[in-house]
Amino acid sequence: MTRPFRMADLSWTDYRDRLAEEDPVVLVPVGAIEQHGPHLPLATDCLIPEAVCGACASRGGRLLAPSITYGYKSLPRCGGGQHFCGTTSVDAATLINQVKDMVREFARHGVSKLAFVVGHMENTWFVNEACDLALREARMLGLKAPRIMTVGYWEFLGEDTIRAAFGDTFPDWSLEHAGIMETSVMLHLHPSLVTMDRLRPHPPAKLPLWDMWPYDERLVPADGVLATAIGASAEKGRLFYDEYVATLSGALDTAFAEPAD
Ligand SMILES: [Zn+2]
Repeated sequence: MTRPFRMADLSWTDYRDRLAEEDPVVLVPVGAIEQHGPHLPLATDCLIPEAVCGACASRGGRLLAPSITYGYKSLPRCGGGQHFCGTTSVDAATLINQVKDMVREFARHGVSKLAFVVGHMENTWFVNEACDLALREARMLGLKAPRIMTVGYWEFLGEDTIRAAFGDTFPDWSLEHAGIMETSVMLHLHPSLVTMDRLRPHPPAKLPLWDMWPYDERLVPADGVLATAIGASAEKGRLFYDEYVATLSGALDTAFAEPAD
């Protein structure tokens, strides 16, 4: 029988004992409910980091905490924007406060190693801000703060894998929204949630190097796919996923190695 690795499945006493005896890294996926083209589910940015974190937890004696499901707003240049039905977002202050509160709560129960694994690029700076504020607050109150890692799971794809999967056509991570990587990983993890025959070929989004408020919705492809997902496959998805799990596991070991003091 595999050991439970989901925090939410443990009783409070088992959770308490596990923290006290093993001091495990606790992983928190930070996703979004956001359009991902007509072919992927709204929860794509939750489902992928949840699976990657779950594998890192079950294999490494770590714990997977429940995700933060709603994320910061979708920006046109990396997520298509807020004008798509279903993109259900929170203000930055809401996300910051939620993450900050969670750091405090985990710390209060004795978690000393915490990792926020971001699945939605727009969350990144606000999760970092929340960690900084949480540590500042802990210092002011004289409380012991956890060490916290923040990272975007997509960062863990090596150049060789990118070249093998995309050839010379890798668009850039900001345009890889509902594109080949996310679609392939979803085909590997949740094939019943992917509808490939809804994809229509169109060139990658040509968005300016700046942001405008209000932004011009006409610059964003109408289907919400910023760079084509045609060519995505479950085989590529397995390759990406396995690399994410292996490299994130290694990164967690490195990041939380005992400090040399
Ligand atoms: Zn996404």
